[in-house]
Amino acid sequence: MPVFNAMETIVINLFDEFQKNYEMKCICNKCKEDMLALVLNNIPPRYTSSEKGQLFIKGLYINPQLQSDVMRELMEAANIVEHHQQHQVES
Ligand SMILES: [Zn+2]
Repeated sequence: MPVFNAMETIVINLFDEFQKNYEMKCICNKCKEDMLALVLNNIPPRYTSSEKGQLFIKGLYINPQLQSDVMRELMEAANIVEHHQQHQVES
């Protein structure tokens, strides 16, 4: 793939951080994917070539403004997913 959206990598990485600080009601794959999709729809994509990718991602990743934007979106996505779960959770 010649170009990809660097935000995907960043959102997935920050999701792991988010999970450590926020107790989600459900952490199944469906809820996780729903959250990632919501966040990626709300955050402008940052396309990069696969050649420059790693450095580009690193540069974005250490940007505190971007980090707090993604964290805020994750928080909102968690709220939405928790209140609109399409599936029954077995417990
Ligand atoms: Zn779930």
